[in-house]
Amino acid sequence: MSLNRISDSVYVLEGAVNIGVLVKGKEAIVVDTGLGDTGARKVRRWLENNGLLPIAIINTHSHADHFGGNAFLLKRFEDIRVYAPEIEDAFVRYPLLEPAFLYGAYPPDELITDFLVSEASPVHEILKPGSLKIGGFDIEIVPLPGHSFNQMGVVFENVFFAADSLFVPELIEKYRILFFVDYNMWIETLNKLKEFKGYTVIPGHRKFDTSIDAIVERNLLHLEEIKKLVTSCMPDPFDCVFNKLGIPENPVSRALAGTSIRAVMKTVR
Ligand SMILES: [Zn+2]
Repeated sequence: MSLNRISDSVYVLEGAVNIGVLVKGKEAIVVDTGLGDTGARKVRRWLENNGLLPIAIINTHSHADHFGGNAFLLKRFEDIRVYAPEIEDAFVRYPLLEPAFLYGAYPPDELITDFLVSEASPVHEILKPGSLKIGGFDIEIVPLPGHSFNQMGVVFENVFFAADSLFVPELIEKYRILFFVDYNMWIETLNKLKEFKGYTVIPGHRKFDTSIDAIVERNLLHLEEIKKLVTSCMPDPFDCVFNKLGIPENPVSRALAGTSIRAVMKTVR
């Protein structure tokens, strides 16, 4: 099992969710840990095969598919320090909050699924925007709110882990409505991403080889289209939007799409 080499000091396990590994000497930092422990197991083996010791995990945000492997890695490497942004940290420590947030009450069993609820993990340090020094690593933390409350990206040398601040066109087409909790914040975040032109950008899912500008524009267009659709379906947009986009009838898809719809509603009242 090999990770994809991005530079001398940055590697990525490309899967359903990308897991980043920053390397300096014999130490490593893991950026997000995937859904469940599948990716984390591969990363653990790779770290061990290369004689590397992970000293920290940075969780960009608290969606289950980004911190699911924390618990597994912590069992093997107990000195790991987990970093997560404020508010996101609460969801990482109490994963039931995610479906509760989506549902607006204690969640029904259909929403307590592996996709929405990962094994809980401690958070040792709050991730804050700006420079961050961990061991010999000099990292820059960039706020990227909108997709989640307080998502943050990670810049290390010339590589930018942009988490779920942008999605490749194939995924926009697949999901038909992307997930977000704040419409205007996400637009602001997307516009800020254009500053990262000279960087190798690693999104949270998949990869792209076009310019970041093209991907940003595609995401902005998507948000604009969703806003138009929600506006046309007001005042009670849910079934109208679900039907027009063909959102599957399962509770998870509808809960996720419903949250994005509510995030738009706040801006069109
Ligand atoms: Zn996410």
